[in-house]
Amino acid sequence: MAVDLHTHSTASDGSVTPADLMFEAAAARLEVIALTDHDTLDGLVPARPAAERAGVRLIGGIELSLEWEPGTMHLVVLFIEPGGGPLQDRLTDLQDARHRRNQTMLERLGAVGVEIRPEELAEEASGGSVGRPHMAAVLVRKGYVETIQEAFERYLAKGTPGYADRPRLTPEEGIGLARASGGVPILSHAHTLGVDNRFQFADLMDRLTAAGLIGIETHYGAYDADGRRSMETIARRFGLSPSGGSDYHGTYKPDVKLGSGKFALPIPSDILEELESRR
Ligand code: AMP
Ligand code: ZN
Ligand code: FE
Ligand code: FE
Repeated sequence: MAVDLHTHSTASDGSVTPADLMFEAAAARLEVIALTDHDTLDGLVPARPAAERAGVRLIGGIELSLEWEPGTMHLVVLFIEPGGGPLQDRLTDLQDARHRRNQTMLERLGAVGVEIRPEELAEEASGGSVGRPHMAAVLVRKGYVETIQEAFERYLAKGTPGYADRPRLTPEEGIGLARASGGVPILSHAHTLGVDNRFQFADLMDRLTAAGLIGIETHYGAYDADGRRSMETIARRFGLSPSGGSDYHGTYKPDVKLGSGKFALPIPSDILEELESRR
């Protein structure tokens, strides 16, 4: 049986509703799915009864963006539910910071002649947490670019004219809040960290494990079989448990399939047992 421990719904920047995603998971013959929307647990509320009807096990989760230069550091937290808790209580702040960042980005895009109205963005996001993939979709729809990827390359990625940063949790804060809330923190898509030097990478892994990191994504949707194997070696070297997820976003990442990713490689369910034993 297979699992998918990293997915997005319309509660953030995926194109499929939380409930429909549960039925897609069942159709993809997944035994377990984790919903890990950016900065929000809201999707878990409608997903829960749908998962029951679809006959899949749903694990509550979230994806946090952490403070890191020069690249991108994302943390997937598994086994976390809506309600009260140290991490849950910080989400309103993170969502406010995201909202202010989005406004700044619309201003910066306007300054280079790219017009997105706030209503257009809200409509694209259909009530969920708004992110850059929604801006990308509006840019495609209005003919500024051909693809979501091109929207990022020209206007939305770090270092392009539309980009604006936002206050984020530090790695220690994110990992600490996850653990204090009973969650299992997992370093997501480590290739986006922008750390190529292996000594610097080792120092960073030591820093993150000292902070309480438990897992690292080895079976990530963008990795082929060789990539997954070398990430497993890295995981074991630093005492981290392997995790796996497609990072499914529906139409916002058209080449990524639920339950596998870009290469039709399933994610084995034994990954989950080890993560669960370290809760
Ligand atoms: P945000 O949380 O608003 O900063 O947006 C982050 C999301 O944008 C990520 O989860 C990815 O889905 C997507 N993303 C980031 N960089 C790129 C890129 N270069 N190409 C396509 N999608 C990207
Ligand atoms: Zn996303
Ligand atoms: Fe991510
Ligand atoms: Fe993601």
